[in-house]
Amino acid sequence: METHFTLLQRTLGSYLGLAVGDALGATVEFMTAREIAAIHKIHRNIIGGGWLRLKPGQVTDDTELCLALGKALLRDGLNDTNVIADAYVKWMHGCPVDIGNTCRRGIRRYMLQRTLQADPTPDSAGNGAAMRNLPTVIATLNNESAYERVSLAQAHITHNHPLSDAATLTLGRMTRRLLRGEGISAAHAEAMILVECVPHFRFDPWPGMTSGYIVDTVQTVFDAFFNTDNFEECLIRVVNRGGDTDTTGAIAGQLAGALYGVSSIPERWLRKLDSNVQDTIRGQCDRLLALQNLDQEPSNVFAHSPVIPHPLSTAKTAAI
Ligand code: MN
Ligand code: MN
Repeated sequence: METHFTLLQRTLGSYLGLAVGDALGATVEFMTAREIAAIHKIHRNIIGGGWLRLKPGQVTDDTELCLALGKALLRDGLNDTNVIADAYVKWMHGCPVDIGNTCRRGIRRYMLQRTLQADPTPDSAGNGAAMRNLPTVIATLNNESAYERVSLAQAHITHNHPLSDAATLTLGRMTRRLLRGEGISAAHAEAMILVECVPHFRFDPWPGMTSGYIVDTVQTVFDAFFNTDNFEECLIRVVNRGGDTDTTGAIAGQLAGALYGVSSIPERWLRKLDSNVQDTIRGQCDRLLALQNLDQEPSNVFAHSPVIPHPLSTAKTAAI
């Protein structure tokens, strides 16, 4: 029997893992692998700096948007997408250290027009929606239909694109199965469903692209996650690839932390991670997990490997 204790350890591992990956990767964001090697040999410590001139342990938009979404879900965000959009607005008004163009455009549109869905445009296939969806996974752990509904609702505020939808849903389903203790083979099965439905995402052999385009991001994360066997190696592999390293670090940290648990995160990284961020994450995990008990829908409708719905079939027909 899975104990709640174990579930909580994995959930903490996933959420803290995401923040650690963000803080570790941000130092080398937008550098090439060669540039990273020239300066750091191997980048393996949380030291801050980078183009954002961060303090050691400071996180960026990836983690901050998760915290904003988590807070909104704990209010009434599961039922009211405006609560989520308002949380993004509040975050943007707090002068975040970084914000992606697609995120800024989407949040501004909501402020001006109060519409909850971005127009589907080819340039909205960035990784910005996928990187912040972990709180949804935790809050809907036993409820696939609520998971899909809330994931797509939070995503479409800024990113409305079939490739982003497909990746966001798949990464969340992988994380959910890891949190439930089903192991790496269950996560791999979800990844293979994605690749089968949308061959763009094929990641073996790794195609070598590391940008913020969601396909590049997913391939780079999968390569690191499926070719390492512990948290530290997974994160070091992914951030030393270069490119959008805070985001590949964050998503890899989310998966690896869910699989290996919070005790697998190196002490030297947790010690450095911003203590306010840690406190907020620890405060959210338990309460997000508890939300599913309040859900009106039956709690055991979760089925393994559900057919990926509508957004993915759109992706198959779109000429991207
Ligand atoms: Mn970032
Ligand atoms: Mn980034």
